[in-house]
Amino acid sequence: MIDAGDVLIVGAGPTGLFTALALAQEGVRVTVIEAESDICDAPRAPVYFPVTMTAFEKMGVLEDLDNESVRVRTVGHRVPEYNFHTQLSFNVLQGVTYAYQLHAGQDVAARIACEHARRLGVQVLFNHKLVSFEQHQDNVITVVDGPEGKLSFQSKWLIGCDGARSTVRKALNVEYEGFTWPNRFVATNVYCDFRSLGIDDAGFICDPVHSAMICVIDKNGLWRLTYQEDGSLPEETFMDRLPEQFAAHIPVGVKYELAAAAPYTIHQRCASKMRVGRVMLAGDSGHCTNPMGGLGFTTGIWDGLVLADVLAAVMRGEEDESILDRYSEERRRVYLDISSPAASSNKRMIEQSDPEIRRADMARMKEIAENPDLTRLMMCFPFRTIGNVLRPNSRWRDISKSVRDAGIDIDYHKSQFL
Ligand SMILES: Cc1cc2nc3c(=O)[nH]c(=O)nc-3n(C[C@H](O)[C@H](O)[C@H](O)COP(=O)(O)OP(=O)(O)OC[C@H]3O[C@@H](n4cnc5c(N)ncnc54)[C@H](O)[C@@H]3O)c2cc1C
Repeated sequence: MIDAGDVLIVGAGPTGLFTALALAQEGVRVTVIEAESDICDAPRAPVYFPVTMTAFEKMGVLEDLDNESVRVRTVGHRVPEYNFHTQLSFNVLQGVTYAYQLHAGQDVAARIACEHARRLGVQVLFNHKLVSFEQHQDNVITVVDGPEGKLSFQSKWLIGCDGARSTVRKALNVEYEGFTWPNRFVATNVYCDFRSLGIDDAGFICDPVHSAMICVIDKNGLWRLTYQEDGSLPEETFMDRLPEQFAAHIPVGVKYELAAAAPYTIHQRCASKMRVGRVMLAGDSGHCTNPMGGLGFTTGIWDGLVLADVLAAVMRGEEDESILDRYSEERRRVYLDISSPAASSNKRMIEQSDPEIRRADMARMKEIAENPDLTRLMMCFPFRTIGNVLRPNSRWRDISKSVRDAGIDIDYHKSQFL
């Protein structure tokens, strides 16, 4: 039997690694197991909002992330058919919080979290896949398939950060309630001089057929172009259709070099509970959303940070275990009331076909872009993903203070852009 410490975390994605780091910073002994041989560097979430950066600064990882990211100061909306373009500027947040967001692949942040966590003694074991686990009165025994065969780990608590297809969630017999969208997203990393094409560093392209999200993701000219296609088309042939999709955004004759591409099925789904006994869920294992607006990644990170704070307090005897049920309820509420409706509203906006609704969307975007107070409200919307931090002494208690002190009512708006 291997001693995994106080907490065994399943999954070295961003949620697992930031949860591990936050726990280690509270003095908790943590082991992370990851089925793959390394951190996944496929094209996934690229955006870090001020709310995430504020937490990263408190955790001591922001400087490292900043060094490897691009600072993006505006978010654009384009409706090519109507020759419509607006930009929301982060300038309105000067003196309140960061007046920019950071862009980099989520593997960059995950790797930085991994390095910092290891320095604090967290064991991160790649090529170790959770097979099964059993809960007992005082511990959890987990069977792991590692390079030398099956191993048994003992920990006091288990956290499933093992993504949307979570083995942990399935083993708990917890439903993943919600629905799957009929269309598929294709996330690509591409070298292309989008700036010379007038494309914003972060922007939505609204179109009933060729909607997309385009943003810069590193300092060497790598960009993310994510588009949608009909989910009934065979997934294995998505690369055959990619040039035609790109042609809608990159004019003929403009050079580009594809670096990576990944198709993925998108869902709005939430676990019916995020705690069963000594086992908790966080990140995509607990909920997932379409990526329009970057709220899935952000909400997952905040699951982990809030959970680390309450679980460490339980271990110190400062809180009753019932706070873990409140964690489950609150994180489901944040997803169901805030993140999922906002991401769905963003998706609805970018693919809208009804001309009247499109005109109303454009009028609203123009109004927001021209009114600094509205722009501030919109830019601060992701602060809502913090939710209730559940403890008066929480490490995260004052994280949105500067925003609230500036009179920005972050609870006011129901969506990110409209
Ligand atoms: C193609 C793609 C594009 C995306 N684009 C965006 C975007 O633009 N914006 C956005 O906000 N979000 C996006 N997302 C979603 C975002 O990537 C997720 O919200 C985020 O990765 C969730 O992090 P996580 O750590 O909870 O889960 P994951 O990143 O999925 O990590 C789970 C980890 O657990 C490991 N694991 C699984 N099973 C086991 C097991 N049995 N034992 C051990 N390890 C296991 C996996 O190998 C993986 O490393 C995208 C997702 C995909 C797939």
